[in-house]
Amino acid sequence: MLYKSERELIITTLQRMVEIGLVVNTAGNVSIKIDDHYIITPSGVTYEYLVPADILVMDGNKKIIEGDLLPSSETDLHYSLYESCKDAHAIVHTHSLYATAVSTITNELPAIHYQITDLGGPVPVASYETFGSPELAAAVTEKIAGKNAVLMQNHGAVTIGSNLKIALERSILLEWLSSLYLISLQSGQPSLIDNRKLKDAVLQKQKYMKLRQDTNKKS
Ligand SMILES: [Zn+2]
Repeated sequence: MLYKSERELIITTLQRMVEIGLVVNTAGNVSIKIDDHYIITPSGVTYEYLVPADILVMDGNKKIIEGDLLPSSETDLHYSLYESCKDAHAIVHTHSLYATAVSTITNELPAIHYQITDLGGPVPVASYETFGSPELAAAVTEKIAGKNAVLMQNHGAVTIGSNLKIALERSILLEWLSSLYLISLQSGQPSLIDNRKLKDAVLQKQKYMKLRQDTNKKS
């Protein structure tokens, strides 16, 4: 079996997504890209019953190399995002509650908290298109430039990362930021962080990452 550990990682990631409420039933999907191979969840299988053999391995031409099930209905979306974002090696797509709610009321999740810099700044909302369609893949891909996350109008959200752990962390962060924004909106007119201050937050993060690296080297 090809990519057994990656298949297992996809299953444990999906189970964690159910546990923390990012997905319900069979909603959402996950993939990993290694070289020219795409390891992706099947369509319509309840996550608690998934086994490694259910996860599909596909090639660059969307041909199934291993797997008997139908690949995720959003397979085109995953391929399109990988094509556009060469540094991405994992994608998480959810219908999480708060992110989906935000997608229905705005064209952009604004800078409600400095941690939005981990998503590349304010998160754009891609226009509504039918699920599983090439139009949806194009609409989301158009918005991902320079970002690690895109909201999908009246549908959900997608995050990318250099590995699956990072893509999942970004989905969790996006859901938290979305809930923060909605709670703030209900309580009044939320203040936002301007671009200059967001850049300061990025520089500060880089400074602390370097400090951590230097400290770890010494210990
Ligand atoms: Zn979806």
